Amino acid sequence: MIKVEIDKDQCIGCGSCSSMVPDVFELVDVDGSMKAQVKEGVDLEKNKEAIISARDACAPQAIIVDGEVEEDEGGDEVLGEKSQAL
Ligand code: SF4
Repeated sequence: MIKVEIDKDQCIGCGSCSSMVPDVFELVDVDGSMKAQVKEGVDLEKNKEAIISARDACAPQAIIVDGEVEEDEGGDEVLGEKSQAL
């Protein structure tokens, strides 16, 4: 299961993520500036690849994805350790 968060301090409201993955991201007005947020009730697993593309395309790196599943050469699934490393 992946977890997706927006760092609203970093987000510049460019709308790139919401146009790349409109099923997952939307722009909302926060105190007069547009910020991205993750829609409620979205199937993040199903949209995982698109979410990661949007994360990679976000210039200020405001999209935080935790719990990505990577496959090693043996085909075993290894959970990303990013959250523990922080
Ligand atoms: S792509 Fe990044 S900066 Fe642009 S709206 Fe989405 S989270 Fe914010």
